[in-house]
Amino acid sequence: MTGRAPTPTHCPYCALQCAMTVAAAPEGVPEIAGRDFPTNGGALCRKGWSAAKLLDSPERVVRPLMRGADGRLRPADWDTALDAVADRARAVRRDHGADAVAVFGSGGLTNEKAYQLGKFARLALGTSRIDYNGRFCMSSAAAAGNRAFGLDRGLPFPLADLAGAGAVLLLGSNVAETMPPFLRHLEGVRGAGGLLVVDPRRSATARLTSDGGGLHLQPTPGTDLQLLLGLAHVVLAEGLADEEYLAARTTGRDAVARSAAPWWPERVQAATGVPARLVRDAAHRLAAAARAAAAGGPRVYILTGRGVEQHENGTDTTTAAINLALLLGLPGTAAGGYGTLTGQGNGQGGREHGQKSDQLPGYRKITDPADRAHVAAAWGVDEGVIPGPGVPATELLHSLGLPGGPRMLMVHGANVAVSAPDAGRVVDGLRRLDFLVVCDFFLSETAAEADVVLPVLQWAEEEGTMTNLEGRILRRRRAVDPPEGARSELWILAELARRLDAPGRFPADPRAVFAELREASRGGLADYSGVSYEALDGGAAVYWPCPATGPDGAPSGADLPPDAAHAGLPSLLGTPRLFLGRFAHPDGRARLIAVRAGSPSGAPNEPGFLTLLTGRLMEHYQSGAQTRRVPELLAAQPEPRVELHPSTALALGIAQGDLVSVSSLRGRAVGRATLSADIRADSVFMPFHFGGSGSANLLTRALTDPISSMPAFKNTPILMAPLGPG
Ligand code: SF4
Repeated sequence: MTGRAPTPTHCPYCALQCAMTVAAAPEGVPEIAGRDFPTNGGALCRKGWSAAKLLDSPERVVRPLMRGADGRLRPADWDTALDAVADRARAVRRDHGADAVAVFGSGGLTNEKAYQLGKFARLALGTSRIDYNGRFCMSSAAAAGNRAFGLDRGLPFPLADLAGAGAVLLLGSNVAETMPPFLRHLEGVRGAGGLLVVDPRRSATARLTSDGGGLHLQPTPGTDLQLLLGLAHVVLAEGLADEEYLAARTTGRDAVARSAAPWWPERVQAATGVPARLVRDAAHRLAAAARAAAAGGPRVYILTGRGVEQHENGTDTTTAAINLALLLGLPGTAAGGYGTLTGQGNGQGGREHGQKSDQLPGYRKITDPADRAHVAAAWGVDEGVIPGPGVPATELLHSLGLPGGPRMLMVHGANVAVSAPDAGRVVDGLRRLDFLVVCDFFLSETAAEADVVLPVLQWAEEEGTMTNLEGRILRRRRAVDPPEGARSELWILAELARRLDAPGRFPADPRAVFAELREASRGGLADYSGVSYEALDGGAAVYWPCPATGPDGAPSGADLPPDAAHAGLPSLLGTPRLFLGRFAHPDGRARLIAVRAGSPSGAPNEPGFLTLLTGRLMEHYQSGAQTRRVPELLAAQPEPRVELHPSTALALGIAQGDLVSVSSLRGRAVGRATLSADIRADSVFMPFHFGGSGSANLLTRALTDPISSMPAFKNTPILMAPLGPG
C-alpha cells in the first residue's frame, strides 16, 4: 500500500453508508476518520471505525483458488481459473440448458456491479436464474411500497427531515444497535416523548422510549399485522383519520376500514398481548401529532424494518403500516411520511439495476415489452435474447442440483450458506452442484464449498456508486491499492463475457458501466440518467429519480434550491422528496389496500415450544463473513448467543452462560445462553451472524411471503434444551 491523502468515501457495511475518509498508510492498516455528512454527522459505529482491518486481513484471499482432484482448494492463475469457469458454463448450458446456470447477487455490490451482473446473467449466460440476497432483506417493503405508492424507495425523504419530528413510530427496527449514528436523527423526537417502538424485545432502541415518555409496544412475535390493524381501527372508529387527504390523494379507504373494523383494542390485546390501553394510547398520540403536523407543527413518520417485514405475511404487514400512514395523511406531504429502513449497504441500488429475478435496470419489469425493448436498446442487443423472469432466491437456492434446478451457480458478494433460510438445505444444494463459483475476498462458508474462488476488490480499493437508504447516490472511491492478485468484479465479468462470446458490451471501467446504466434507467421509475460522477464528485446531493434534462442529456439541469436538509452542499439534484403532489400510480393516488390477519405461524401453543427471533448485533454485519474477521469485533461478540427470559431459563434448567441446543423442524443449532428480562418469556433471540453449528438459519424455515417471496425469518417454532456449561 502506498501513502496518499485521505480519500472521502463511505462505510462498506450498512445502508446508512456513513461518510468517512480513508488514508492509506505506507505501512500497516489505513486510517479511518468519520466525515461530516447529513446522514451520520461525522459519527461511525464500531464496525465503521474498524473497517480498515478488512483490507489487509491475513485471511484475505488474494489469488484465484481451484479445487483439485483431492478436494482441496489450491492457488491458480487467473487465466486458468477464468477458462475453467467459462468452460463449465458452456458445458452445463449445452447439457442442461441455459437455466441450469444460475447467478446469485448481493445488496452489497456497487450499482455498477449490480447492473453488470444482471446483464451478464441474461446476455453472457442466457439464464433467467438470477436473484440476490436483497430478497431476504427488502422484498416485502419493496412490494408493499410498489403497490401502495407505485414506487419503492426506502425513505422517500431525506433522513435529516426526521430531526424536527413530533412523533416517530418505529416498527421492527433496532437502529440503536444496527446503525447507531442514525440515533442523532431521533434525538428530538425522543426528548419530546414522541418515539413509539414496536418490538417483541425490549431492544436497545425500545429502551430509548423510556427517556422522554415514549411508548414501547411488545407484541407476540408474528402479530404485528393484528397490532397495526388495531391502530387503524382506533384511528377510523374514533374519527381521527385525515378524511380530506384520503379523499383527495388516495383510493381504498372504505375497504381498509372494513378490514380494520374487527380489530378493536381488546381483541388486539387478546391476539398480540399488547394491552388495549396502549393500543389506544399509541393511536391517539400518532393522530394528535399528525393533526398538529398538518397544521404546520413537527412532522410524523412511520418507519418499518425487518422485524415486521420478514414474515410470511411481510408484504401485508408492511402494507398495514403504510395504510396507517395514509389514514393519518402523512405520505407525500410536508407533515411527514412512511419509509422503510434498508439494511444492506447498497440494498437500495441493489434492487434497482436488474439483479432481481423479475426486474431489468431502472426498476423496469422484465415482462413488460416496452421495458424490455428499452433495455435491449441500451444493451445493444435484440430484445428476444433477454430471458424472461426467473425464480426468487429461496426457490432458487433450494432447487440447487435437484431435477430441473441449477447445476452451476455463481455467487457474488453473498454468503448463502449462512444467510439463507433453512441454511442446511442450501449447503446440501451447494454440494450437489456440478460447479460452484464464488467471487469474494474471504473464504466465507459459501466460498469454502466452491470449485473456484475468484478474489475481488474491497470497498476502499474500488470506484463506483452506492445508493443509500434515502435513495441518495454516493461515490465509493479508491483510497488504497488492492493486493496484487485481486481483481474487480467488473473485470471478471468482462473476461468471462469475452470467453463466452456474449452479445453486448462488458466494459471493466465503472464509469463506462455507469454511463450505460444511466441510459438503461432513462425514463424508468429509478431514473439515473441525470446522475454523473462529476456531479457526485462535486459534492452534489443527488437522489433518484434524477432524469437528465440538460441539453446534452446530462447531468440534470433540474437543480433544486437548497433546503434545511442540504444546507452547505453545492447543489441538489433529482428528487429528495417523493410523492409531493402525486404518487407514482397513473392516477397520482396512493392505494390503501385491505389486508387480513390470519393466525401467526410461529410457535404452536403447546408446552415447550418457543418462538425464535433472529436479528443483528452492533458488532457484526449480515452473515458475519467480514466482521468475524475483525479482531476487536470478534472479541466483543465471539460466539452465537441465545437470549431468553430468566423465567424460561428457570423452567428449562438453563443457567446464564450455559451452552444450549436449539432445534426446529429444519435443524439444530448451539449457542450460549444469555438471560435477559428484555425478551418475552415465549421468545428466544439469536443473531444470524455466525456459521457452523451456531448458525441461526439452520433453524429457519423456507416459508415465504406469497407476494414478495420474503422468508419468514422472525417466527420459527423451536425447542430448547440445556447442554450445561461449555
Ligand atoms: Fe455507519 Fe452502518 Fe457503517 Fe456503522 S455499519 S459506520 S452505521 S454505515
